[in-house]
Amino acid sequence: MNSQVFETPIEYLRGVGLARADVLKKDLQISNFDDLLRHFPYKYIDRTRFYKIKDINADMPYVQILARVTQKEILGEKHTRRLVVQALDDTGVIELVWFQGIKWIEKTITIGKVYVLFGKPSFFNGKAQMAHPEMEPYSTEALQRKGNLTLQPVYNSTEKLKQFSLDSKGLQKLIAGLLEQHLKDIHENLPLYLINHFNLVSRADACRNIHFPEDATKLNEAIYRLKFEELFFLQLKLLRNKLLHSQKFKGNIFETVGTLFNEFYHRKLPFPLTNAQKRVLKEIRQDTQRGVQMNRLLQGDVGSGKTVVALMSMLIAIDNGFQTCIMAPTEILANQHYQTIKELVGDDFIEVALLTGSTSAKARKVLHERLENGQLKILIGTHALIEDKVQYKNLGFVVIDEQHRFGVEQRAKLWRKNSIPPHILVMTATPIPRTLAMTLYGDLDISVIDELPAGRKPIQTLHFYENQRLRMFGFMKQEMAKGRQIYVVYPLIQESEKLDLKNLEDGTDVMAHEFPLPDYRISIVHGKMKPTDKQFEMNRFIKGETQIMVATTVIEVGVNIPNASVMIIENAERFGLSQLHQLRGRVGRGAEQSYCILMSSHKLSHDGRIRLDTMVKTNNGFEIAETDLRLRGPGNLDGTQQSGVLDLKVANIVTDQELLITVRKCVENIFEKDPQLALPEHQIFHHSLQSKGQGLNWNKIS
Ligand code: ADP
Ligand code: MG
Repeated sequence: MNSQVFETPIEYLRGVGLARADVLKKDLQISNFDDLLRHFPYKYIDRTRFYKIKDINADMPYVQILARVTQKEILGEKHTRRLVVQALDDTGVIELVWFQGIKWIEKTITIGKVYVLFGKPSFFNGKAQMAHPEMEPYSTEALQRKGNLTLQPVYNSTEKLKQFSLDSKGLQKLIAGLLEQHLKDIHENLPLYLINHFNLVSRADACRNIHFPEDATKLNEAIYRLKFEELFFLQLKLLRNKLLHSQKFKGNIFETVGTLFNEFYHRKLPFPLTNAQKRVLKEIRQDTQRGVQMNRLLQGDVGSGKTVVALMSMLIAIDNGFQTCIMAPTEILANQHYQTIKELVGDDFIEVALLTGSTSAKARKVLHERLENGQLKILIGTHALIEDKVQYKNLGFVVIDEQHRFGVEQRAKLWRKNSIPPHILVMTATPIPRTLAMTLYGDLDISVIDELPAGRKPIQTLHFYENQRLRMFGFMKQEMAKGRQIYVVYPLIQESEKLDLKNLEDGTDVMAHEFPLPDYRISIVHGKMKPTDKQFEMNRFIKGETQIMVATTVIEVGVNIPNASVMIIENAERFGLSQLHQLRGRVGRGAEQSYCILMSSHKLSHDGRIRLDTMVKTNNGFEIAETDLRLRGPGNLDGTQQSGVLDLKVANIVTDQELLITVRKCVENIFEKDPQLALPEHQIFHHSLQSKGQGLNWNKIS
């Protein structure tokens, strides 16, 4: 809860003015006092220790040395004019160079004197150098001078800002000035009981010490406090939205578990449910009896059996007189769901309809009518399901597959189709680490299927290099001889689309040569084909008419062909971890041993190697997601853009997981005790929840 003062535009700060304000805004998005206050150092330089000249190297960021000046001279003409100073300690020589302010600096340096030098070392012809070092005559008094910082803050700056004398040092001065003037205006924004319970330092202390730490302990305390606060308000906002949402949106109550469900469960279901599936069904059952709209995210690895859970939940909805639908991101996947569900329920049980972009106008018209009069109970399709023309009589339960492709607005569009919004189950096969899910989907409840159906053999993953290609062909032959089918996947990205397609075609030619007709047949599916052609090729493979399917990532989502037991990924180093994991999940669905072969060149980047090693090492989607998050940071994960995690300034969603869990629990307790935040000690939150300047842009949070 900063005082209003911090909303003052930055140009009004002493030492800024219009021109500098302009660059601060453009380059660092600093437009008011608060933004500057929250421009935290990205590192600190330890000025408590001195290096010996022989110990420094070019990799060191900034170092401090003590050395005696032995020589100084001005060299060069005009553009090459420079001041060169030699200094030495008992281990070696260092050359100090200045290109600007030469005359003045030259005068201040006395030969024979010892100086404290501070700068970034570099090497030229094996000789240590420092350009434009900070320099101060050595004296015990200078070192012990009160208030002399031991840890110097270093700030991000830009070339442009440097032209305006706002390098790290310049920014430091501005911030020092700001703190000097307004430290007293930095007010506490957490209640005393939390500060005491979590042993936090005050907000003002934290702000001062994160910029100008008295010592390392104070710095750590400051960082902890600011991280806590940042995560706290993020969670407070998310959980409050969720609470408001549940108060605002009533939900249909599914009172009974009726005939359809029971009949399906006892007569149709071809396998026992896993414990995880049962647990999730129970969670959904509870949600749909409360009278509040359900918003639940169902996470489960590929093949963990999410679809059955979705179907059984839908049957409960239908038992209670409602309509249901499943929305998939692609036509292929919608089709697949349609087939799977039809197979599961059988012909005589309940009608299932499909609606996609390819549905004919005539068929569409009939569908629309039957939806409107409520006859049709299960509809499966693509986003065609939420077109304005589609009207339901009483849509009660919606399943959305592969969440990240449907934005928040699209979800909302579905809600608007009823006065009471349908319950929503979002299914995703992209596991998200728990802490990230808490933040990304803070407004959703989360269920996890963390158990594969019994009898599945874990997929074996191998990494082959290009020169092992013959071995790979041999392996393919061996598996096909056993009657298995094989996927071969090529990367395809827009920037190199032509080349990628050529790779795919060349690769297919080689394979056709290796595996000649009539014994072997190959299907090809890629993004440049017409949907009908794609479907035709897919169908040939599904029916077993072809043994090999060469494809780009179009098969990435959801396709289920139990007899396909080998997944070969070409140029595997070019895929991201979650993509690799998704692709691998296409196999391992039948009873046989399945394999995934990652083909790569010998040249692998550091991260590329980690990705492939991770794939070989584990099948666990959550473990893979953790590694992915570590490699890429949250900024590149789907959905993070709107989540607010990218606006975190101090906390880090990857490394501060433990703190995040603590904070989350703390916020949950607060809402349990005081859902309206009405208690006197919680009044303090309202200001922060309304104001923008709390380190988070609330607008971005859905
Ligand atoms: P997901 O959508 O999670 O990737 P699916 O629901 O498509 O997984 O299920 C994958 C396969 O496993 C399907 O063939 C499905 O019929 C089967 N399956 C689902 N649950 C079980 C279970 N409990 N036992 C055996 N097989 C199951
Ligand atoms: Mg699925």
